[in-house]
Amino acid sequence: MNLEFTTEELAFQNEVRQWFAENVPASLRSRADNGQMPNRDEQHGWEQVLGRKGWLVVGWSAQHGGPGWTATQRYIFDLERARAGAPPVSPFGVSMVGPVICAFGSAEQKQQHLPGIISGNVHWCQGYSEPNAGSDLASLKTAAVLDGDHYVVNGQKIWTTQAHWADWCFCLVRTDSSVKQQQGISFLLINMNTPGIEIRPIHSIDGHHHLNEVYFTDVRVPVENLVGSEGMGWTIAKFLLTHERTTIAGVADSKREIERLKQMLKDTKQGNGSRWDDPFARRRVAELEIDLAALEYTNFRTVAATEEGMGLGAESSGLKIKGTELQQAITQAMVELGGHLSLTWDNSEPVGSFAFNRTRERYNFLRAATIYGGTNEIQKNVIAKMLLGL
Ligand SMILES: Cc1cc2nc3c(=O)[nH]c(=O)nc-3n(C[C@H](O)[C@H](O)[C@H](O)COP(=O)(O)OP(=O)(O)OC[C@H]3O[C@@H](n4cnc5c(N)ncnc54)[C@H](O)[C@@H]3O)c2cc1C
Repeated sequence: MNLEFTTEELAFQNEVRQWFAENVPASLRSRADNGQMPNRDEQHGWEQVLGRKGWLVVGWSAQHGGPGWTATQRYIFDLERARAGAPPVSPFGVSMVGPVICAFGSAEQKQQHLPGIISGNVHWCQGYSEPNAGSDLASLKTAAVLDGDHYVVNGQKIWTTQAHWADWCFCLVRTDSSVKQQQGISFLLINMNTPGIEIRPIHSIDGHHHLNEVYFTDVRVPVENLVGSEGMGWTIAKFLLTHERTTIAGVADSKREIERLKQMLKDTKQGNGSRWDDPFARRRVAELEIDLAALEYTNFRTVAATEEGMGLGAESSGLKIKGTELQQAITQAMVELGGHLSLTWDNSEPVGSFAFNRTRERYNFLRAATIYGGTNEIQKNVIAKMLLGL
């Protein structure tokens, strides 16, 4: 495996770096410098900027309106995106339902939905999890019953990220209870303005509102919003899970966060010098950098395999486990090395451009990283089954 970028790839990296330098709004950079997530207007506004440039759906083929980049180009793009302080794009349209519609959608569905995703003008959420169907997703109960040319949907989804920001929801629903669990599931596109949908907020431990409960009471959904055929939902859900995994490890953002930690240590006075002079702090950062380097090289292997057209299975589970463990370890180091400065109410010491007292939000939010996207225990089960044959 050649780990050097080619001349063309280096030129691409320069082009992308320059574009980000000129186009990432100052407000987004400032949020990234403080470890904060953008609000709705900032996130949607940024996605529209990317959409206008044709750089929002970077994993899509040219045939469907993407730039048709290689896996290496996508990887470079993500590195430069994080380096410039731009947030990851919301995955629900771009990496989830968009590729599903490209692969399984009717001509009408493609015409109706793809342009809004490519431009960043239409926003989606993912209605999979239910109160008793998370890891055991196949036991979901939200029912869609055919009534003339509509499905009537009743049930409840939970943990629906950005449902309160979304125009549409892609939902797994039960259309048949008489067959094996997986065979009775279908994939429906539901307009969030349809009467009968109620969104209730869930405030998470970082103090923000990202998550929701979504209730469906006699919600009428036109049959033409069914993707594929009835009973295909499980096949589509599995396809969605294996799509675009080259950035699942979150290497780009972890790199930026380690640099941010170093800068915070350098900017924080200690005695006659800074906290960066403390060998314990430098050792802690070095350990994180070693883990990141190992993860990055594993990720390169995934990128190379994707480039050669190989599907990914257990590898992406491994990357998800190590990537999320590292994200948590970085924020834990930030909080611990910041000491009393990491307390949100402590503004006692002047700091440079980065503030330890902002580390709490990200630390708290990332406790969920080992849960969302399929828990790490479930990923270990996947590895046991696919690699070890257990
Ligand atoms: C921040 C956040 C955002 C989310 N966003 C969305 C979203 O937008 N849309 C959506 O549909 N869902 C979303 N989810 C839901 C997420 O997918 C589920 O939380 C996850 O799949 C786990 O399901 P659960 O919460 O029901 O936990 P459970 O499945 O009940 O698991 C509880 C514990 O038991 C363990 N466990 C369960 N089964 C096994 C097993 N077979 N072997 C070993 N251990 C097991 C789990 O690992 C976990 O530790 C989000 C969750 C979070 C935290």
